[in-house]
Formats: sequence, C-alpha cells, structure tokens
Amino acid sequence: MELSLNIEALDSWVRKRGQKLLISGPCSVESPEQMDEVVRALSKQDNIDVLRGGIWKPRTRPDSFEGIGTEALPWLKEAGRALDIPVETEAAEAEHVELALKEGIDILWIGARTSASPFSVQEIADALKGVDIPVMVKNPINPDIQLWIGALERINNAGIQKLAAVHRGFSSFENSVFRNVPMWDIAIALKSLCSDLPIICDPSHIAGNKEMIPFVAQKAIDLDMDGLMIESHPDPEHALSDKEQQLSPEKLENLIRGLSMRSATSTDPVFENQLEELRAIIDQIDEDLIKTLVSRMKIVEKIGEYKKENSVTIFQLERWKEILETRTSLGKKLDLDEDFVKSFLELIHELSIRRQTDVMNQRIEK
Ligand code: PEP
Ligand code: MN
Repeated sequence: MELSLNIEALDSWVRKRGQKLLISGPCSVESPEQMDEVVRALSKQDNIDVLRGGIWKPRTRPDSFEGIGTEALPWLKEAGRALDIPVETEAAEAEHVELALKEGIDILWIGARTSASPFSVQEIADALKGVDIPVMVKNPINPDIQLWIGALERINNAGIQKLAAVHRGFSSFENSVFRNVPMWDIAIALKSLCSDLPIICDPSHIAGNKEMIPFVAQKAIDLDMDGLMIESHPDPEHALSDKEQQLSPEKLENLIRGLSMRSATSTDPVFENQLEELRAIIDQIDEDLIKTLVSRMKIVEKIGEYKKENSVTIFQLERWKEILETRTSLGKKLDLDEDFVKSFLELIHELSIRRQTDVMNQRIEK
C-alpha cells in the first residue's frame, strides 16, 4: 500500500543551515525574560533552523502548568525575529490556529494528544483551509499508524502541502527506559508508505531525560530521519514544564557537535563500489534463504500427509517446544538475538500449520 500525500519538499519551505533540520527552543514559552535568554543562548549557535515554544500546553494531569496562552505569542515571534529564524508552536484547537496566524507564527505542530482525536484534527484542518502555513503532525500517543496517517491526510486534504510528521514515541503502561517508547518500526513504516513525507524525530519526548537524548538523536540520524526537534531551556532546573528533558544551551551545543551526521547516499565511488559488492552478497543470501524456506515447506507438507494417513494431530506441543529450545540456543551461541529467532520461528511455524491444515483438508493436491 502506498500513501499518496501531496507534499512540498522540506527544503522548499524551510532553510536548513546544516544537513538535517534542527528545531529547538523551550517546551513552553514562559516569560519575555526567558525568551530573551533563549535568544542570547541560541544566537551563539548557527545551526538552529526553527525556534519552537509551546503557548498552549495540553498536559496529561490538570494540576500542571498549561502554558501562558495567547499573551505569550508575541514573545515567541519576537524571539524568532531576533534570531532571524521561523517560529513554531502547537495548535490544539481552531482558535489556536487563528491566533497563531494573526501573530505571524510561521509553523504549527499538532500535538500527540490531539493527533489521537480525529474530531480535533478535523477542526484544525478546517481552520487551515485556504491558509499556506507549514504543519508538523506528531504521532498519536498510542502506537496506531493509521491514526497518524489519518491526521496527516486530514491536514493535507485541507490544502496544506508543507507537511511533515514528528516522531515523538508512544505511551506505554509497561516500565520502559523511555518516557515514550520509540517503536522505530512505526516511523520506518510511515516513511516506506510515503517517501516524500519528511519525518522529524523528537528525542526529548521519547527520552524524557537529558542523558538519553543524544542516543535517541543519533539513532534518528542513523535511520535517515529528516530532522530533530529538541527542547532546550536557558535554565532547565526552573522550567515550568518538562524540566527533566530540557537541555541547557551548553548541553544542546555539545549534543549537536557530538552528532555524527549521515546522509542517505555518498558520492565516494570507492564506498559505492564496496556497498554494491556487499549488497550483491546479501541478495544471494536472501535468495538462498527463500529457497531454503521453500524446501522446508515441502517437507512440512510431506509430514502433513503422513500425519493424515496415521490420524495424528497437526500441532505437537513437545516437538514445538523442542524446536524453539534448540533453535534459540543455537542462535544465542551464534550471537543471533533470541527474541528475533523466536519471532522468526513463530512465523515459520504458523505457516507450517496452515500448510498442514491444507494437506489434511486436501486443499493441496499431491
Ligand atoms: C511538546 O512538544 O512540548 C509536547 C507537548 O509534545 P507532545 O505532543 O509530543 O507530548
Ligand atoms: Mn515538552
């Protein structure tokens, strides 16, 4: 399945000073003084492309700081002017869109809690009709790629072509080292469905703590995400929201300096040749793997016939346990991830049972 969105390339609507789009700024806009500090700190860095700042904050619990509101819009815009970069804030209602547009806010993002609600997204989409402003759509808090796609489609259908997705991880009841579990495969799946859609990673909300942000940011770059949104605050200890995850200006600078930038391709012919050779080997291995699986399935069908002739059940618990046990311990010995081997075997076993069921019911003619 392909996802067809009508999208303008990122480079055409935001100037990238480095190789990846870098968005930074505080979780929340708190005061004119704080924004003066932000300007002072970020003006020392020449690679921030967009200044972010929350005006209306949808907090999970009602007793948290919920943003300054409309009064803070000019403080954000003014800081963007001083830094000579566009500013971005979250819109959660149609009224936020109108107020932000009136103030000249350059980019909007739709937050994770809003993306999870089709009615809210549609309300925002309706307010955006006929307006030319870039919009970034955060993934919904629950790991539902269709909901994320639906939100992107609603905004795109309203005529917004300067569109990007923001991967900020997913809520989980399970204990995790992450504040929001990244589930990178969902971001990768979105990219595979729509290669034109830029995906920005938000390591701050994934990590939830300062220490892990560099690791998540590097991983996003290694996965060829198009940019990073990183929360920074002149005085994180006293931040009114998300203080555990906001980086001080020094930490932000170190993080950016420490990132190993990678691009999707290289122009170095030696690298290209080596890559080509290694890929040819992989192609052969994959072909062998598939042929081996086909041979295995042929044997599975033969066993199905014997079982049928002897009135023996398809599923044999002891045999299944033995397969799992021997193959995962072999994998472990050979340094192949145990969970991976288990999932791989489960897939094979599922197909084997299906094939043997077909043999038993004579859906496979021999
Ligand atoms: C934010 O960016 O500060 C924010 C509230 O994000 P999210 O919607 O991802 O929780
Ligand atoms: Mn935040």
